[in-house]
Amino acid sequence: MECIGAIVPAAGSGRRMGGRDKLFLSLGGRPLIAWCIDALERCDLVAEVVVALTEAGFERMVRLCEARGWRKTRMCLGGARRQDSVAAALGALGDVDWVLVHDGDRPFLTERLISDGFGAARDTGAAVAAVPSKDTIKVVDAVGLVACTLERDALRAVQTPQVFRAGLLRRAYERSEGSVTDDATLVERLGVRVRLYDGSYDNLKVTTPDDLTAARAIARRWKRMV
Ligand code: C5P
Repeated sequence: MECIGAIVPAAGSGRRMGGRDKLFLSLGGRPLIAWCIDALERCDLVAEVVVALTEAGFERMVRLCEARGWRKTRMCLGGARRQDSVAAALGALGDVDWVLVHDGDRPFLTERLISDGFGAARDTGAAVAAVPSKDTIKVVDAVGLVACTLERDALRAVQTPQVFRAGLLRRAYERSEGSVTDDATLVERLGVRVRLYDGSYDNLKVTTPDDLTAARAIARRWKRMV
C-alpha cells in the first residue's frame, strides 16, 4: 500500500490574531491545533505527521502530544516564511509516496477532505481543495483604484489539504524561488497541472479574532452533529 505523510505548517507568528499563539487557543474544549492533528491521527491513510513549529510552540506541542496520546506525530522547527516551514518539515519526513500539506490553523479537516485529495491527486500528482469564490474579486493598483474585475464563475478560493506525489513536491521545493502563499504554486511552476477538488466552507482558516468566533460557531454545530 502506498504511504502518505502529512505536513502541518504551524510556525506562524499569529500577528493578525494580535500576536497571540492562536494554535493553542481553546476551540470547543481542545486547542485549535489539536483538531486537524486528531483528524490526521485517526485517518488510516496517513502514516506519519510532521508539525513545523516556532520554538515556543515546540515546547507546548511536546506536552500536547503526550496529553492526547498521538502516535504518528513528530515535530520540527519551522522557518521565517510558511514555505520555509514546509521545507523544514519535508526534510524531517520519512520515505513516503505522497505528501499532504495542511495548515495548522484550519481546524475543520475531515476524513473526506483527506481521502478526496488523495483520490484527486492520482491524475496529475497534485490536487488542492478549493471552493467557489462567494465574493466578486477586483484587482487594484497601488493607489487603490480598480485595475480590473475578474469573472467570478472562474474563481476558486484555494484551501488546504494540498496533496502531492512526494518526489514532485520535493522537486518543486528544490527549485523554489521567491515567496509563495501555497505549495501548489511551486508545483505549477514546474509545468504540472494541479487538479482542484471540492473543499468545504467549514474548512476555514483562523487568522483574525473574527475567524475564531466563526470557528467556535462551527465547532458547536459539529458537536451537535455527533
Ligand atoms: O501565514 P498564513 O496564514 O498563510 O499561514 C498558514 C499556516 O502556515 C499557519 O498554520 C501558520 O502557522 C503556518 N506558518 C508557518 N511558518 C511561517 C508562517 C506561517 O508554519 N513562517
